[in-house]
Amino acid sequence: MLSTVYLALGSNLGDREQNLVKAISLISDMEGFETIALSPIFISEAVDMDEDAPTFFNMVIKGDYRYRPSELLDNMEAIERQLGRTDKGMCQPRTIDIDLLLFGEEIIETERLTVPHRKMLDRPFVLAPLMEIAPEAVHPVTGNLIQSYYNDEESDKLVIYKECARQHV
Ligand code: ADP
Ligand code: MG
Repeated sequence: MLSTVYLALGSNLGDREQNLVKAISLISDMEGFETIALSPIFISEAVDMDEDAPTFFNMVIKGDYRYRPSELLDNMEAIERQLGRTDKGMCQPRTIDIDLLLFGEEIIETERLTVPHRKMLDRPFVLAPLMEIAPEAVHPVTGNLIQSYYNDEESDKLVIYKECARQHV
């Protein structure tokens, strides 16, 4: 069975746009994954990092995935490593961070994986790109539209870097 999944991508080290482009391509090539939509790229201030940490490029990918959540996470982590990420678990600038936001309507609580992503509702840089491609998505824990957690005031602070990342696929 296919599950509709949403992945959040973030980069604040090196060539940030190129890192996103490479990640899009590797994710799209993943066995069992079919890319459905790409959000615009947003620029946001780094949170939970040093004050002088570079700003982030953020976006969200919507896809259909054929296998299990743990297999998707394995692949996401392999792609992070492939793009030079060496700082897992530390609040350091990173070439690429790939987080699993939603996996169908599944609620997952394991050592490696919390889905829906624990912090997604508090993060304008996740919600803003998500809303561009998933206005109908529902938060499986609360049953509310994700849209209802979206805060215009916070999100208006974000800058769109590029309207359409689609051309990169
Ligand atoms: P962060 O994304 O908060 O910057 P990391 O990318 O270093 O942090 O990931 C820290 C841990 O978060 C990983 O070991 C991973 O197993 C765990 N994790 C839990 N839930 C998720 C999720 N939904 N998506 C991605 N990683 C997750
Ligand atoms: Mg992560």
